[in-house]
Amino acid sequence: MDELRDLYQEIILDHNKNPKNFHVMEDATHKSDGHNPLCGDRLTVYLHVDGDRITDVSFQGSGCAISKASASVMTTALKGKTVAEARELFHKFQDMLTREDAAIPDLDEFGQLAAFAGVREFPVRVKCATLSWHTTMAALDDENKIVSTE
Ligand code: ZN
Repeated sequence: MDELRDLYQEIILDHNKNPKNFHVMEDATHKSDGHNPLCGDRLTVYLHVDGDRITDVSFQGSGCAISKASASVMTTALKGKTVAEARELFHKFQDMLTREDAAIPDLDEFGQLAAFAGVREFPVRVKCATLSWHTTMAALDDENKIVSTE
């Protein structure tokens, strides 16, 4: 388990340092801003949705390592998914972070999203890890407003 913990930590640090899809998207079809006042994380999520499929995802903003890394991993996980699949993935991710009895998923099953399983030991950090997801769900719902985790 310690080895897995180290590996997960490394994934988070790596995405924080070199976030994927970290840019403004000029031709976004959906966009939303998110704010986590508890930690000071602020980000904007951009989506390009074609029919029912998310063809592109990007984000911009600033925040702690967990919020930034989580947004980065999320963009890689959502690209190419349908909107329904994205919502399902969000619920799975949220379950992993909030349900103490949920099994720790492995990388094969859940990709790099699994790296955030350890966050559930730090309830304050759960909001950091889910900010980008809440913001994405709001963007998909077409609520073009600022999302606050409060
Ligand atoms: Zn944070």
